[in-house]
Amino acid sequence: MMERVSAHELDALDPEQAAAVTAPRGPVCVLAGAGTGKTRTITHRIGHLVAAGHVKADQVLAVTFTARAAGELRNRLRVLGLGGAANQVQARTFHAAALRQLRYFWPQIVGDVPWRLLDGKFPVVAQAARRAGLPTHTESVRDLLGEIEWAKSSLIAPEDYAAAASRQHRDVPYDAARVAEVYTAYESLKTTPDGLLLDFDDLLLHTAAALEDYPAVADEFRGRYRSFVVDEYQDVTPLQQRVLDAWLGDRDDLTVVGDANQTIYSFTGATPGYLLDFSRRFPEATVVRLERDYRSTPQVVSLANRVIGVARGRIAGTRLQLIGQRADGPEPTFAEYQDVPAEAGAVVASIKRMIAAGVPTAEIAVLYRINAQSEAYEQALTEQGIPYQVRGGEGFFQRPEVKQAVVALRQVASRDDLPAESRSGTAIVKLARAALGPLGLTAAEPVGAQARERWSALTALVALTEELTAQDAALDLPGLLRELAARAEARHPPTVQGVTLASLHAAKGLEWDAVYLVGLSDGTMPIAHVLGEDGSVADEAGLEEERRLLYVGVTRAREHLQLSWALARGEGGRRTRRRSRFLNGLIPDDSPASRIAAPTAESVSAGARPYCRVCAKPLIGTYATMLGRCRRCPAELDAELLGLLQEWRTDKAADLQVREFVVFTDTTLTAIAEQFPADDAALAAIPGIGAKKIDQYGAEVLALVAARHRQDPKTAGRK
Ligand code: ATP
Ligand code: MG
Repeated sequence: MMERVSAHELDALDPEQAAAVTAPRGPVCVLAGAGTGKTRTITHRIGHLVAAGHVKADQVLAVTFTARAAGELRNRLRVLGLGGAANQVQARTFHAAALRQLRYFWPQIVGDVPWRLLDGKFPVVAQAARRAGLPTHTESVRDLLGEIEWAKSSLIAPEDYAAAASRQHRDVPYDAARVAEVYTAYESLKTTPDGLLLDFDDLLLHTAAALEDYPAVADEFRGRYRSFVVDEYQDVTPLQQRVLDAWLGDRDDLTVVGDANQTIYSFTGATPGYLLDFSRRFPEATVVRLERDYRSTPQVVSLANRVIGVARGRIAGTRLQLIGQRADGPEPTFAEYQDVPAEAGAVVASIKRMIAAGVPTAEIAVLYRINAQSEAYEQALTEQGIPYQVRGGEGFFQRPEVKQAVVALRQVASRDDLPAESRSGTAIVKLARAALGPLGLTAAEPVGAQARERWSALTALVALTEELTAQDAALDLPGLLRELAARAEARHPPTVQGVTLASLHAAKGLEWDAVYLVGLSDGTMPIAHVLGEDGSVADEAGLEEERRLLYVGVTRAREHLQLSWALARGEGGRRTRRRSRFLNGLIPDDSPASRIAAPTAESVSAGARPYCRVCAKPLIGTYATMLGRCRRCPAELDAELLGLLQEWRTDKAADLQVREFVVFTDTTLTAIAEQFPADDAALAAIPGIGAKKIDQYGAEVLALVAARHRQDPKTAGRK
């Protein structure tokens, strides 16, 4: 076997990795910490199995955690020398694999009952809640949806929900019997006169059932796929495991890799039990443990070891101490800020310096606990003109132009006057371009920030269409729409070059040169619901999962790592927050963050007016710099003008279909209402207003200021 693997390929592996890669066909389990090369090992294993002739490339099904990871796996296989065969390896998420299989097998098992993927569960759950007489506000529906998803991925039927929830001490939002009623109603609402609506869990359920109940389907499938690989196996749900079992049948050609200490999806029903019990299920399995961390500097690795070193419980008992393999790098830094805007301003100023120092923007990430935290960073990055992409949040598919684009594509898909040859393959790229033209997809990049943002989103959509048709020449518009729906659900946006903003959950498996872990305050990280009113621990298991989440965050960084938090939420707000309890014992005594760190000079944006226009002292901090005065110096704010500007901004944002801060941030509007700029030059002196903004909005803003001035001449002559 070994002799058929190129020497070069094995060179790039350490002995333990090589053992997993070259293990004979059959069950293999790699249990290892972050950055030790698990994902890389499975890629090499597939390459090896194919190169050694054990299996054909198109007989391998590799399950990855995200669609992006699937793409990366294919790329790495190509680099490994599999060439065109790399594309034949099926690398997909559980959901995408099930979607594909179900589409293929549906006619055999259900006949001509039509079905389609449920675009959004939210409205259906809301309707079900209404039927059950429960509140239908967003939070209530979100909680109910969470319970339904947990039950389905744990293979719990509506009639068993109440008992299971009590057995597992679920923190149920309402009386369990009522939740079960909503679950029942939700399931029945998906059967409509036009056919069945399937959510993502249904895809998995139906796929497993098809293989379990229809021998012909199982035979055909098992004849086609012979070797299975699962990445991030610690976060597999009972439902996904059932699909995997159905795929395998009584075979055992299965490689799994995972790190129980990175289990972060327990709330969805995922469990590391399957990973930890793998060798009990397959006593003949090759089990490999990896300890060398190839991703991060020893400084980052040491912090990671300390974060997870104090974890408790069964999972923690399986951890291995990571040993950093890279050259030394900078020590991770800790920083405390007065409020969230100050934190965001300082982080973005630091990002700016990273970029200036040569770190590619795509190699920088800001990671946070909950998606709502992205807003402050979106604002701050927008102010500094640094491109970014939000992963794992509402993000790309929630953008108005992308939603409009999907509607437009759906209209084209429903036309029956198109010749057959223009309905699939590269021809649909042309159709897509034509359909998106009226939405702002011009041939050349337009001027103006909003138009450009729209344009790049639409361009990314066309690029994605090109990529998908290159992978599947038979792809048609309905197929494209299905893929887009699947990606929206899986929150897998097309790649845009820029700083990544992502939740810690969405960051797993990924790595960047520079990582900022932000908002690390108690009640956010760990999240409030694992704590009691008085800050005591209310949910021990939940707290441990939060700790693992921080471990995942720390281990994303290759080289630069900063951890920060803010004492207040809003600008100058009451400082009621404390730094995360997880940081206790991690911050060196000589770190500035062991005291209260004032916003430092690094948070002063370059080229900005450095002195207060009221007291003439040097300005410190982004907020002060943008306003042109110290935070405590008296403001000469014209509240009326500020109100007018805010109304104008609301209208403008609605017209352009962008969020308000994209037009101007609150700080910029405040600065205008304080400084009464009379001309373009005065506008340009306000940080945050560049030539583009003056082009776009200058005239309207100056007109508003002038009108206000005519109305109240007291305001004349302010500079
Ligand atoms: P995670 O737990 O975060 O998913 P992982 O164990 O899957 O991490 P990989 O992403 O496979 O780790 O590898 C981490 C980094 O280390 C990658 O950049 C990879 O290319 C590199 N790497 C892995 N093994 C080696 C090796 N033997 N020699 C050099 N670099 C390696
Ligand atoms: Mg990995």
